[in-house]
Amino acid sequence: MAAADIDWTRVRADFPILEREVHGKPLIYFDSANTGQKPACVIEATAEFYRRHNANVSRAVHALGNEATEAYEGARATLARHFHIRADELVLCSGTTFAMNLVAYSWALPRLQPGDAILVSRMEHHANIVPWQLIAQRTGAVLKVAELRPDGSLDLDALRAAMTPEVRILGLAHVSNVLGTINPVAAICKEAARRGIVSVIDGSQAAPHMPVDIAAIGCDFYAATGHKMGGPTGTGLLWARREHLAAMPPFLGGGEMIKEVRFEGSVFNDPPHRFEAGTPNIAGAVGLGAASDYLDAIGLANIAAREQELLAHATEELLKIDGLRIFGTAPEKAAVISFAIDGTHSHDLATLLDLEGVAVRSGQHCAHPLLQWLGVGTTCRASLAYYNTHAEIEAFIAALRKVRGLLG
Ligand code: PMP
Repeated sequence: MAAADIDWTRVRADFPILEREVHGKPLIYFDSANTGQKPACVIEATAEFYRRHNANVSRAVHALGNEATEAYEGARATLARHFHIRADELVLCSGTTFAMNLVAYSWALPRLQPGDAILVSRMEHHANIVPWQLIAQRTGAVLKVAELRPDGSLDLDALRAAMTPEVRILGLAHVSNVLGTINPVAAICKEAARRGIVSVIDGSQAAPHMPVDIAAIGCDFYAATGHKMGGPTGTGLLWARREHLAAMPPFLGGGEMIKEVRFEGSVFNDPPHRFEAGTPNIAGAVGLGAASDYLDAIGLANIAAREQELLAHATEELLKIDGLRIFGTAPEKAAVISFAIDGTHSHDLATLLDLEGVAVRSGQHCAHPLLQWLGVGTTCRASLAYYNTHAEIEAFIAALRKVRGLLG
């Protein structure tokens, strides 16, 4: 089915929270880059797990224990199909932040040494900067930065030039959470691989909005955050090549990640369970599996097309507002619009918009180095999803004009 044939009003009705009012106004939720709203099937899958199947995984021989294990491993298999990868290469975890730290501490820490470099781009979220800084401090490696073009796209020539022989790792966002820029990750990872550089892709903002075929990207590691994909909070995943996972020591120790424990030493479990110490977020994983099925039923290509339409509409209307600047105008762009209005503070705008029922984010979006480059303290960010509507965009623009008037 094509995007044009989908009844988006019916799709929207799958999201109970979108029927809410805030401050007496219908909720207009334009903060999906922060966290995505959850369709009823995800809420129900999570509740159903607790209602009928709740038990711990991989430990019990009783019926519920088996059901819980099947549900958890079933979610892993569902997600593996969704991302075109093998289930035994998929580590379930709490999100991209955990995934990046796992790669940093388990893959990079034992390997990096003085003279090595870690390359990241200017547009990275702190989750793809700070873990590398911590590893650099401990190993004597240095952090290098690939800069952007004025439109917020990656400067690919500069990136290539920065891929010098001392670079061991490239950390790169698939999609920027501030600029919306969609990076050509497949071509970049190919180039990195040619030079022996291990690529770590932050797919947080890509996975909810476009088809992601991790195998086709050709990276070494790919992280995604479940709660932005319509899954429960505290869910996410790391995919890694088998040879990397096999060579990585555990990050956290405890139950589930071992085969045998003696006081003289322990034998660790095989990947991916080696990296899932302790009781996992079982219900969360089940919910995330349901979320990926939900996205697949609509089709991520349809979702991408729908969101491009919404992005074009919102951008056109925003640019009609005097003194409004949009940060991030790359030709390949997801439905994330960061903006500022001359003479107003983004916190004031966001606070007054909230009173009109409009939820946008204001701040630095966990991307301080990018905001420093943009030369602004903060921005407002309207981030759209397929469940938003053209009517909401009109209402948002009207509300923005009103609050802008109030701010003088
Ligand atoms: N990377 C990007 C690009 C993000 O937008 C986010 C969430 N804002 C993260 C990483 C971190 O995700 P989480 O907080 O779910 O670990």
